Amino acid sequence: MNIIQGEKMGWVEVITGGMFSGKTEELIRRLRRAQIAKQKVQVFKPKIDNRYSLDHITSHSEQKLISQPVEKPSQIPELTHEDTKVVGIDEAQFFDESIVQVCQDLADSGIRVIVAGLDQDYRGKPFEPMPHLLAIADHVTKNAAVCMVCGNPASRTQKIIKSTKLVEVGAASTYEARCRMCHDPDLKDVREVVQI
Ligand code: ADP
Ligand code: MG
Ligand code: ZN
Repeated sequence: MNIIQGEKMGWVEVITGGMFSGKTEELIRRLRRAQIAKQKVQVFKPKIDNRYSLDHITSHSEQKLISQPVEKPSQIPELTHEDTKVVGIDEAQFFDESIVQVCQDLADSGIRVIVAGLDQDYRGKPFEPMPHLLAIADHVTKNAAVCMVCGNPASRTQKIIKSTKLVEVGAASTYEARCRMCHDPDLKDVREVVQI
């Protein structure tokens, strides 16, 4: 790609960290600032995330921004308008690997792409496709929450109920923020069992 200085150039920003670390708040903050500067913004999220509402991205502090739910990453470039300057994507860990090339292509076509997602699952294992997105990003922000046990910076997500389901979209009743020291990846100390 030939970039002439001053020509519109896109890039990929990734916002990551555990649950409650403020990824969605930070994504909304960046998107609102772009909107204030009269840049056309579009926001996408995977359809799996229907926690609060189907057509918004929502933070745990109840900030909201209108978004378009999509089944698969290939719908994002199809739905992106010609004059869109900034594309926001939340909960990117729920997309398949093709989200990586979609972000690259959008950035190469001059769009600022801001992607938020969990870097680890509740067992502390890398949550694909986020590791790949982190590698190709031009800019990365990794936030911490506050550990609910000891108050240290929390990089992990603790599952606080046992259930039979592997992928769960939940909030404060299912997960809490924990630091490395207090994280219990094998759920040894988790007593409450829920049948789903
Ligand atoms: P994420 O998208 O990373 O899950 P959100 O942006 O949705 O995070 O929510 C961040 C908000 O979550 C904080 O501003 C705070 O109001 C709330 N919150 C709840 N529990 C915690 C915690 N343990 N540490 C920090 N923030 C928390
Ligand atoms: Mg979020
Ligand atoms: Zn702790």
